[in-house]
Amino acid sequence: MTRILVVNSGSSSIKYQVVEAATGERLASGLVERIGEPLGRIVHRGADGSEVSRELPVPDHTAGFAEMVRAFEETGTPVDELGISALGHRIVQGGGDFIEPTLLDDVVADRIHELGELAPLHNPGHYQAIVAARALFPDLPHVAVFDTAFHQTMPESAYRYAIDPAVASVHGIRRYGFHGISHQVVSRRAAEFLGRPLESLKQIVLHLGNGASACAIDGGRSVDTSMGLTPLAGLVMGTRSGDIDPGALLHLLRAGYSVDELDKLLNQRSGLLGFAGTNDFRDVRAAADAGDADARLALAVYVHRIRHYIGAYLVDLDGADTIVFTAGVGENNAAVRAEVCADLEWFGVRIDPDRNEAPSREARLISTDDSRIAVLVVPTDEEAEIARQAWELVAG
Ligand code: ADP
Repeated sequence: MTRILVVNSGSSSIKYQVVEAATGERLASGLVERIGEPLGRIVHRGADGSEVSRELPVPDHTAGFAEMVRAFEETGTPVDELGISALGHRIVQGGGDFIEPTLLDDVVADRIHELGELAPLHNPGHYQAIVAARALFPDLPHVAVFDTAFHQTMPESAYRYAIDPAVASVHGIRRYGFHGISHQVVSRRAAEFLGRPLESLKQIVLHLGNGASACAIDGGRSVDTSMGLTPLAGLVMGTRSGDIDPGALLHLLRAGYSVDELDKLLNQRSGLLGFAGTNDFRDVRAAADAGDADARLALAVYVHRIRHYIGAYLVDLDGADTIVFTAGVGENNAAVRAEVCADLEWFGVRIDPDRNEAPSREARLISTDDSRIAVLVVPTDEEAEIARQAWELVAG
């Protein structure tokens, strides 16, 4: 048995799944949320398919995991009878230190905590969950799987910013890139779908979810990506601005914005939400279709930005074999795929409208047979990839 308990934790939530590493099959899953608030909540789906849902105070991550254990018991299979071989912890920021999945010990956990300086919204929550989970499962191996690790193969020309190197070095300022777990699994599955060796392919992967990023992948190695020091850079996202002239931030600071106000503006009140009043892509699309000018502008900027990165990565990679759409928007919205790929015949991209519009949950080709670049939709599965990587490390 190769069952992995995959943990994706935030400062106030723990998402977990029991995944069969060899197949990616889910055996149980759940979410503890509003940790630390007066009233928290757990929703759990057990291995037998039954559900537990209740509201109660969950003061900290230790209490959150205790609720998870209780829910496993109530749905028929106590957690220690599930045959879990290891835990896989998803970690957003691994800095320049972690280039692959890493067995968690005190030193690694402390380093993840320190890297909270670069990822204050993510790593502190990861750390709390790691401490709680290691105390609860002291005899199981715990593996940290990093969103940044896949991008550690970028050349210096892609990951350095052109600022004073001394300042950059003291503050760790460089491009790290994120969504690496998704870009890795999607690029591998795209190669499998095409029946070609990963090593032979130049790929542009577009992860378009609530967060969004593009990645240029050469032979299975990330050579450039749109997110930067933080997940705020690059594409237009649900609530994040993506790329913006840093001078605009200086301008707003001088105009009296505080750092926290700027943070909120750029991370929580920008992107599709900023333009159109909602970050749900379906609602933006529906409003645009109904003639709403703000929603149309939101989509126009969204698509324009993606096309910019496709152009950049076609140059970076010296052409591409495939462009791959993934995540909530990329997998489900045919119109955005058509808009992103419109008028790219010169570059070798021709979408087949029927293939593009046929709904499916599987990996599929949406370009014509004579399109030089194969355009694909490949569902992402970050939890299955975390389980696979954790198992690979533990099994040696
Ligand atoms: P996250 O970054 O939170 O993992 P997801 O990959 O789940 O995000 O993507 C969420 C986005 O996908 C939302 O904007 C949602 O509106 C969009 N989405 C989900 N299903 C559809 C659909 N059927 N059509 C269009 N957009 C969709």
